[in-house]
Amino acid sequence: MFKTMTRAAALSALLLTTAAHAAPPTEGSGVAWDITAGLTTEIGQRLAGSDREAAARDWAVTRLKALGFESVRIEPFTFDGWVRGPESAMLTAPYPHKLAIAALGYSAPTPKGGITAPLVYFPTLEALKAAPEGSLKGKIACIDHAMRAAQDGAGYGPYGAARRQGPSIAAAKGAAGVVIRSIGTDWQRNPHTGATSWSKDVTSIPAGAVSNPDADLIVRIAKTGKPMSLSLQLEGKPVAKLPSGNVVAELPGRDPSLPPILVACHLDSWDLGTGAFDDAAGCGIITEAALAAQKDAKALRTIRVLWAGAEEVGVFGGAAYAEAHKNEPHALAMESDFGADKVWRVQFDFGPGNAALADRIAASLAPIGVVRAGGKANGGADVGAIARAQKLAVVDLSQDGTRYFDLHHTPDDTLDKVDPAQLAQNVEAWRRVLAIVANEAGPLGGS
Ligand SMILES: [Zn+2]
Repeated sequence: MFKTMTRAAALSALLLTTAAHAAPPTEGSGVAWDITAGLTTEIGQRLAGSDREAAARDWAVTRLKALGFESVRIEPFTFDGWVRGPESAMLTAPYPHKLAIAALGYSAPTPKGGITAPLVYFPTLEALKAAPEGSLKGKIACIDHAMRAAQDGAGYGPYGAARRQGPSIAAAKGAAGVVIRSIGTDWQRNPHTGATSWSKDVTSIPAGAVSNPDADLIVRIAKTGKPMSLSLQLEGKPVAKLPSGNVVAELPGRDPSLPPILVACHLDSWDLGTGAFDDAAGCGIITEAALAAQKDAKALRTIRVLWAGAEEVGVFGGAAYAEAHKNEPHALAMESDFGADKVWRVQFDFGPGNAALADRIAASLAPIGVVRAGGKANGGADVGAIARAQKLAVVDLSQDGTRYFDLHHTPDDTLDKVDPAQLAQNVEAWRRVLAIVANEAGPLGGS
């Protein structure tokens, strides 16, 4: 078709294409937008345990008080965290290439001057598991995977294991270091960071993620069979006993004897971007929806918001909340932590006594394009511990995750990616659910 176009038509087609790739409108309005814009602009990156995470807690307290929340407080805790250091990676053989890399959270530091070692490619985590014991001694393992974008983010669980468990498995086989293909679905030259975890019986090693285009490069070279060598410098390191805290605030209901509705997001972010999708938007969504459903005690039950600390590095805030509030009954838990794109699905974990309530919620959401699906709601990371301990009723509002893992834990997780119209749809879906559950006088419980 281009062949027969005039130059002017071709140029206008090109401009249209460019416009299609431009960011969504960057100006929104309302509480959810203001929180998302404020946190990402006035605080920015807020790695768990950092001064910026502490500044974010103070920012949250001021903001929640100004919005009319009561009992606004910081519930402090400490945790064993990790700080980033200088980092670089260079393929030194068979062809020299500087790679885009980010250390994984809890990576061990490389020795001064870094390490240079043969790079051994594994197409899957299963292939790494099958490598003989000791076979990686003195080598750097490269772990690949094939995660693809999906509305429900289904690839993150199975393929994410390359990040969560891969480095520990490589270390157990003697590896001196490990690089993984970023757990992401984009084609940008952005590494995706994220935490890894070490088995008790292994000594941690330097571990990083290379961008998807760099992983593609490694794959092309690996296919030739030519020996590869990598120079790796990752100076980030674990640090014990860092300060964090949860920010908790309430909108009291008319009947304080009824257990509250708990709604959560997380306040910390990874340090490469400004944590707009992950998870400033979640804090904005739950807060505006709680206000819409409950300001001036419109509803029976108290709605409590939890802006959890230190989620990204191991859900320490969720664990601290569950411990601090274990003797206090809750009614129902919900969480927003999957970006800011439209809610498309609702799932429940309700006891048999709450079946009619689930029907009413589903009917209320259907007109705004949210479908009821089978399967059990799981609540999310931060409310997980308290929901399990108290067998709480749970409602999951699933956001469209098609582009979530393009941005997740990258330098590109910034405000311009948040579409104000989709953010507003999230708030409306949450408001509808909260307006119903916070007015439910009867007992609420999970299965
Ligand atoms: Zn998150």
